[in-house]
Amino acid sequence: MTTGVEKFDGIGMTSARTRVRMVERLREQGIRDEAVLSAMTAVPRHIFVEEALAIRAYEDGPLPIGSGQTISQPYVVARMSELLRAGGKLQRVLEVGTGCGYQTAVLAHLADEVYTVERVAALVAKARRNLRALKLDNVRIKHGDGSADLGEDLEVDGIIVTAAATQIPVALLRYLKTGARMVLPLTNRDDDLRGVQRLTVIDKASDGVREQAYDAVRFVPLLTGLA
Ligand code: SAH
Repeated sequence: MTTGVEKFDGIGMTSARTRVRMVERLREQGIRDEAVLSAMTAVPRHIFVEEALAIRAYEDGPLPIGSGQTISQPYVVARMSELLRAGGKLQRVLEVGTGCGYQTAVLAHLADEVYTVERVAALVAKARRNLRALKLDNVRIKHGDGSADLGEDLEVDGIIVTAAATQIPVALLRYLKTGARMVLPLTNRDDDLRGVQRLTVIDKASDGVREQAYDAVRFVPLLTGLA
């Protein structure tokens, strides 16, 4: 398959073939959305991690990206993208927690426009470099605190938060079109076990929001303020 990123493909563990195998595993793990699977075939995950870790880029696990943060595991990126799309077309998407920009790059293949916010300046710089290298020009990155109001005039048809919240970030709901959804790891209040996070979908309806919990996950916390 021609993905347009062949020049990034290395040999062995960073080859396009290794990435295709990762996507086959995602399919076996239950990811069904073909648009998500082809986006993940297109994005070379190894360029988002430190060179020394590149050979592990297509294993299904999180990896460190500096500043105490991690790149999400491929299954979780796929699952969140699938839940966000819900089989539909996405125009503008807001992402909170850019990190190294891997999930951002996957979203850039699924939406017309991606607006992503990261609170750690060093990671903003890193993500900019990574996304520029891939020539993804439909992404705007902002150094900001995405747990609060962004102070912008914005209307999106999907929000994805890639850090764990203990409650729904209500300040962001106003950016969401009615009928659109937010996907985030949320500490499940009904769970007895403390700190259990579940991928949660918040659907915005005209009469309020509906919340539904999915897979158990492990994310770094959503923090406030800039770093
Ligand atoms: N999606 C990323 C995963 C990043 S980990 C990837 O694919 O690599 C979570 C990220 O959320 C971290 O980079 C962390 O700094 C960021 N973050 C945490 N709280 C935030 C906030 N309030 N606003 C913006 N970013 C935040």
